[in-house]
Amino acid sequence: MKTVLITGASRGIGRETALLFARSGYGVAINYNSSVDSAKELLRQIKDIGGNAVLIKADVSDSAQVENMFNSAHQYFGKGIDVLINNAAIALYGLFTDIAEIEYKRLFDINLFGMFNCAKQALSFMISNKSGSIINISSIWGITGASCEVHYSASKAAVIGFTKALAKEVAPSGITVNCIAPGVIATDMTAHLSGEEKQELLRQIPLGRFGGANDISSLALFLAGDNAKYITGQVISPNGGMVI
Ligand code: NAP
Repeated sequence: MKTVLITGASRGIGRETALLFARSGYGVAINYNSSVDSAKELLRQIKDIGGNAVLIKADVSDSAQVENMFNSAHQYFGKGIDVLINNAAIALYGLFTDIAEIEYKRLFDINLFGMFNCAKQALSFMISNKSGSIINISSIWGITGASCEVHYSASKAAVIGFTKALAKEVAPSGITVNCIAPGVIATDMTAHLSGEEKQELLRQIPLGRFGGANDISSLALFLAGDNAKYITGQVISPNGGMVI
């Protein structure tokens, strides 16, 4: 059985991705940090469909917790992780000059260094196994930049640089590293938008709708699979045509 570890799988895109990989026969390590109830509910849903999954609490910004998480997953599945999906992130809204240092350092600790922590742990198994796939979730704002989301945009641009460099470094070990840069997806992260803000964003999306978490999970499943073995270092942006 192939195994996947998905960070931030308690809600939104990560949750949908966990369900899809479980339905597709993967053993799923569900990482969560604070949303214990929805993580438990996800585990129950996966067990109900006969899937194989384990819940692991860890703050991805803490390297010791991440090391324990990978050890727990290894113990549960009896093998290392074949696919890592670095999905956990937080957003920060506000004028660049209004956001405090403690807030933007926390954002980078999660959105970028969380990925470093997880990739480092995952690679120790993948390199010895000469195979593996790492999928990093960025954002269209990491490509274009967003006003009032300067720190978030910068962290997501860094995810793209991280993806491209790591892809080159680990390709000789048979490991692919790719990036998904979603457009506007209907999850808790975009739930704060006012009706007016939603209309303004919709006007910019040629396909005329926000994406669903399933628009991202289906791409992650493809990138993790055997049909994507020749794809590495790429940034793919499911965004309804918002950025072309
Ligand atoms: P979401 O609904 O807010 O969910 C975020 C997830 O990240 C939660 O499961 C949360 O877990 C987890 N998380 C946050 N901090 C964590 C930490 N320190 N350690 C471990 N997990 C942590 O967000 P989403 O919309 O699904 O976003 C998923 C990814 O897509 C993110 O990388 C986001 O930047 C990206 N993205 C989203 C959109 C969008 O429009 N929604 C667009 C572009 C990119 P807990 O609740 O358990 O703490």
